[in-house]
Amino acid sequence: MNSNYQAVIGLEVHVELKTDTKIFCSCPTSFGAPPNTHVCPVCMGLPGTLPTLNKKAVEFAIKAGLALGCKINKRTRLDRKNYFYPDLPKAYQISQYEIPLCYDGSVNIGNEKTVGITRIHIEEDAGKLIHDVRHGTMIDYNRCGVPLIEIVSEPHITCAEEAKQYLSELRTILLYTGISDCRMDEGSFRCDVNLSVRKKGDTSLGVRTEIKNINSFAFVAKAIEYEFERQVSIVRKGESVTAETRRFDSSTGKTYSMRTKETAADYRFFPEPDIPSFEISRELIDKLWSDIPELPSERRVRYTESFGLRQEDADIIVSRPQMADFFEAAVKTTKYPRIAANLLLTDLLALVEADGFDCPISPMALSELADLSGDRTVNSSTVKKLIKLLQTEEYAHIPPTRIVKTLELYQINDRNILHAALLEVVERSPKLLADFKAGKSAAKKAIIGGVMSKTSGLADPIILNEVFEELFCNT
Ligand code: ADP
Ligand code: MG
Ligand code: ZN
Repeated sequence: MNSNYQAVIGLEVHVELKTDTKIFCSCPTSFGAPPNTHVCPVCMGLPGTLPTLNKKAVEFAIKAGLALGCKINKRTRLDRKNYFYPDLPKAYQISQYEIPLCYDGSVNIGNEKTVGITRIHIEEDAGKLIHDVRHGTMIDYNRCGVPLIEIVSEPHITCAEEAKQYLSELRTILLYTGISDCRMDEGSFRCDVNLSVRKKGDTSLGVRTEIKNINSFAFVAKAIEYEFERQVSIVRKGESVTAETRRFDSSTGKTYSMRTKETAADYRFFPEPDIPSFEISRELIDKLWSDIPELPSERRVRYTESFGLRQEDADIIVSRPQMADFFEAAVKTTKYPRIAANLLLTDLLALVEADGFDCPISPMALSELADLSGDRTVNSSTVKKLIKLLQTEEYAHIPPTRIVKTLELYQINDRNILHAALLEVVERSPKLLADFKAGKSAAKKAIIGGVMSKTSGLADPIILNEVFEELFCNT
């Protein structure tokens, strides 16, 4: 439709850091406390107070930078960004302007595409306004001073799908570093979309709009699609796009103008006088590097190359860090990582909530189930039965191998037994065999089913089928 035009997109992502205390005072950062209970004179911006920089926040930000391939500025400082808004009690935000902590990183989003990261800086979060029909607008200062990093991407993203891939990979990497919960629903991972359009083949950038604080990946995609069409229809008419800040309304799927875009001059940035500039030592960077665990991209390679997992399966497991840790624990002992992955992605995934991986079955049990199945000690319906048993109080703490022994759930692969069972079933219902010989395939299923129920579901389906063929197919 708009094939002559392409979107140019850069994302700004704000991530709340999981420090115990705020960035300039010792108030707690935990989410969900009653309004205005996590506050003190510093984070309420009362006159005469002084901020003290939280070292942990700086370390977390550097960790994020290292995991995203950034360089770290050796000497850095904070800057004061002046603007007046009721959720910002000091009427300025302490942020970083000219010398961000980290710069020049990248995120690989698959298909050989990389999105550059321009910079990562630290800053303080603002409070929250609550608009209420009865009470008017109320303010909660609990979030004031919660440490944030802002991750600014290069305008390398060209469509909604790439934006989602970038956000998803970025979020996964950050989750692995442990610096944030990255929960979009609690606002600890928020995204602003910057978008302009240009004719395909053009290299200069068009005028951008900025869509603020979108709180789900799906809404980011919708906002991009809507805004792209809107801007294309403007430039098609020969008019020009206004540089402005817009908001996305998820109920209409449209973006609406909020205000004209501020420029740096509007903010009157200057070096924050209350916090001295500081140095980041080589030793600190080395120490933080050594704390960074194996990253998602490395894990994916290991899962496909060493364990022989399918790419799609590796992607799903790796994208959920708790699930990946669970899998790591299980593959330590199993001989059959692929079977373990299959069970994890089907039967066990069905038992956990969408978030996290709080599974009623232990990694150790998964490892044993994979071995029991891989060694063909039990058949697949017994594996399912074992998974059910492991969720009962009686068997929850008993290793699957022991349950198999106690309940005698061994797969029956003795040809003589299966032979006898097959004969018994067709003797009792000769019509089934006659139907089978007459070409009715349903009859075979019924005979096999008869043996399965005679053996309490323990027959080895592969051997049973072989014996069936020997008995009834050659005569
Ligand atoms: P601001 O503080 O004004 O939002 P930043 O430099 O922090 O500016 O962020 C700018 C964001 O907008 C970056 O992600 C950048 O890649 C993106 N961007 C800049 N120019 C354009 C443009 N013409 N079209 C699309 N995105 C752009
Ligand atoms: Mg911006
Ligand atoms: Zn405080």
